[in-house]
Amino acid sequence: MPAIVPGKSCGSCTKCCTVMGVPELKKRPWDKCPHVGAGIGCKIYSERPSGCRTFVCGWLLDPDMGTDLKPENCHVVFDQKDAYHIFATCDADYPDAWRAPNVIAFMHRLAGAIGPDRKVIVLEKEGRTWFVTENAVVPTDTG
Ligand code: SF4
Ligand code: SF4
Repeated sequence: MPAIVPGKSCGSCTKCCTVMGVPELKKRPWDKCPHVGAGIGCKIYSERPSGCRTFVCGWLLDPDMGTDLKPENCHVVFDQKDAYHIFATCDADYPDAWRAPNVIAFMHRLAGAIGPDRKVIVLEKEGRTWFVTENAVVPTDTG
């Protein structure tokens, strides 16, 4: 498992329990997990599936992401899917969260830092997606 930045922890955040899919639970992305409890977190913590045990969001891994970019605050979960793609998935209740000045500025910086061979991709519920580059935001369906 990748190394979590010292001093960071999930704490009261449960954003990935809604935003991300969990195949073992047949939980689709953006569906709230039936096991998450308001204010108490995971109600089956000791028995949670491996997909939950191994998931570590980008905020936990990046020392340059401040508290404002913690998913429970910015409503966007960053997730490096593979060597080439970093997804920024927005909470369905906050579909424009990625457009907040601090979030979009971070994504532009991130795109510049990771270089042209890797992509930052914004996902909104209903399948709307954008590439974020160092200087632009481009809908993914425009070539
Ligand atoms: S979104 Fe990140 S900080 Fe929030 S609960 Fe999930 S892993 Fe923890
Ligand atoms: S099982 Fe627990 S950790 Fe996994 S998505 Fe549900 S509430 Fe979150």
